[in-house]
Amino acid sequence: MVPIQMVDLKRQYNKIKPQVDAAIQEVLESSAFINGGAVQQFSQELQQYLDVKHVIPCANGTDALQIAMMALGLEPGDEVITPSFTFIATAEVIALLRLKPVFVDIDPKTYCLDVAQIEKAITPKTKAIVPVHLYGHVADMEPMMEVAKKHNLYVIEDNAQAIGADYTFKDGSKKKAGTIGHIGCTSFFPSKNLGCYGDGGAIFTNDDAIAAQIRMVANHGQSARYYHDVVGVNSRLDTVQAAVLRIKLPLLDEYIKARRAVADAYDAAFADVPQIVTPYRAANSYHVFHQYTLQLEGADRLALQQYLAEKQVPAMIYYPVPAHRQKMFAAFGGAAFDLPVTDALTHKVISLPIHTEMDADQLDHIIQSVKSFLNQKPA
Ligand SMILES: *Cc1c(COP(=O)(O)O)cnc(C)c1O
Repeated sequence: MVPIQMVDLKRQYNKIKPQVDAAIQEVLESSAFINGGAVQQFSQELQQYLDVKHVIPCANGTDALQIAMMALGLEPGDEVITPSFTFIATAEVIALLRLKPVFVDIDPKTYCLDVAQIEKAITPKTKAIVPVHLYGHVADMEPMMEVAKKHNLYVIEDNAQAIGADYTFKDGSKKKAGTIGHIGCTSFFPSKNLGCYGDGGAIFTNDDAIAAQIRMVANHGQSARYYHDVVGVNSRLDTVQAAVLRIKLPLLDEYIKARRAVADAYDAAFADVPQIVTPYRAANSYHVFHQYTLQLEGADRLALQQYLAEKQVPAMIYYPVPAHRQKMFAAFGGAAFDLPVTDALTHKVISLPIHTEMDADQLDHIIQSVKSFLNQKPA
């Protein structure tokens, strides 16, 4: 059996090696390393795939979030509503810009912001909501946009884990995750569902004025060459990375199907295991399974992790400490936020390997290993 990894980037690369190698070679020959043709081409292709008006590439997903917040002109002290149950970048960027993160609890089924609790957290200083489509499940965007509209708030979707996911509105229409709010942000970190071979990111919007502001902020606040209107940053997608992404974007839907097939197999295998809660899929969210995350009930997840490691099965805890309990946010009153669902789930979750290259024998070994751990008689 091929060794099991959380994400098997090597085998995925081997399948597209000739195309990728040729595309990289082409960039080397052109020596247009910065803003070469592939950057513009990839942006247009992603625009079409997402059915969004503007795609602005940048250096990574964290920058995408930072640039989005800068482009909206948020001021120090403005409040931004976001989940604590996320990768740290979401909340870190808010604090970096001297905005105030206001953590709201998550829906216990979807791990995404609990829309019913957002309104209680809104104050006259609230300017934006930053939902995270965690693990590849889309947050409940339609009611969230209604709350945002009512209170005149911006919505920035952190779509780093859900590129390619669809959200279905009550009238049956669909939109891609990341194109529903005012701005969407994503990451092309190698292990993401659409990953490049280094760092990369992008920002999406349907609003022309916001797009112009984003382009300016991402490029040293420049409105015309060497005319700098606002304080910005330097954040670009490398041409080499764009060339890799141009090969992988047409395969994204296939990659998503492969991930969903692994998730289906896990769901079926664990359906009648009493200690396991399998991931929920809301009817309005087409889940793209960036992670396959279980909740363990009445079983020790660290002991399971250890047991699996002995069977050469990696398993990870995303994330062991929620943002509001990180030292980073002590000065922002982090631990004072009352987030019972976040706190409870933080102690129950464990993620199994999921990727585009999983073999049947690997999957079977993982499932049997999890089951044999749970079937052990207590000592
Ligand atoms: C990966 C990730 C980011 C950051 O992306 P980078 O490209 O690593 O900066 C932000 N938010 C979430 C939810 C992520 O998973």
